[in-house]
Amino acid sequence: MQSCFPSLILLLSTGPLFHWNWNRIPCLFQYKHTYAAGVSLLCCGCGQLRQGCQNRIEDKGDEFVKHKLLMILLACSLAGCGFTGTEDTADKTDDDRTADVAGEGSLAKDAESGEKTADQNREKAQENKDEKQIPAAAGEVVISGDGSPATIAGVPIVNKKYGVSPDYAPGEDPTAAAAARELIAAMQSQGLDVSDSWSGFRSYEYQSELYNGYVASSGQEAADTFSARPGFSEHQTGLAFDLKHASGALLENPAEAQWLLDHAHEYGFIVRYQEGWESITGYMAEPWHIRYVGDIAEDIHARNIPLETYLGAEGGDYR
Ligand SMILES: [Zn+2]
Repeated sequence: MQSCFPSLILLLSTGPLFHWNWNRIPCLFQYKHTYAAGVSLLCCGCGQLRQGCQNRIEDKGDEFVKHKLLMILLACSLAGCGFTGTEDTADKTDDDRTADVAGEGSLAKDAESGEKTADQNREKAQENKDEKQIPAAAGEVVISGDGSPATIAGVPIVNKKYGVSPDYAPGEDPTAAAAARELIAAMQSQGLDVSDSWSGFRSYEYQSELYNGYVASSGQEAADTFSARPGFSEHQTGLAFDLKHASGALLENPAEAQWLLDHAHEYGFIVRYQEGWESITGYMAEPWHIRYVGDIAEDIHARNIPLETYLGAEGGDYR
């Protein structure tokens, strides 16, 4: 209310302009005493100015002009009160206060107001997403004490920042495996070249063998771009599958790779490592590697973003 005070003063100080009209504006009559009290309090040099203004208006005898002035002043007062009232309800940052003190003008306030609206829109969008049970970027990070993967909003995340302990060995996730079988059957029904066999769950020990083999043949720097160090493989969760062509080679032909990009989400999967995402996922593109995430696959696919971005999880290289 404090910031309404200048507006009230303005309203009261304009009283003389419509003093003549009290009895013709019944809805304002109740404020007459308030007005009188206000004028008494404001009895100062400004009184002369107001009186002069009143006289000039009355001299002109133009009631239309008086009426217009009254409406404009009332509108200004109410608008001013409303504007400052809105500001009062918003949380102010230190920057806001600085701007107010410095009096940086209405453009800054307009911009600030616009930002607040945008923020509100984003919050609303976030709320809508939450209603659809989609993990929020601000979801709580849970690092499990039992060596299982960290989860964000219930979604397990394993990358070069989020690891799992050596003895975490859940085996193949049955729901994910069933979905993978459905996906493969769908591909095969369309004549696509995909094998019934895949590379799914990998134990810590097996990942160690694989990774060490790649380091021996390609060097560690190269190996880190396409193979996870033991304890950091998504395959250890039982939720990741490397699909293959009938030949046994990893699935990478354009027709099959594109089908996965277009349809994997229909089976609860995302193509986890894609071109352009290397700095976030930590790996080169792997068209064959699909990760089961369930219902949220639809939304991740629609937004076309890495899992890390979707969950608000840290990505990139090892620490
Ligand atoms: Zn893989």
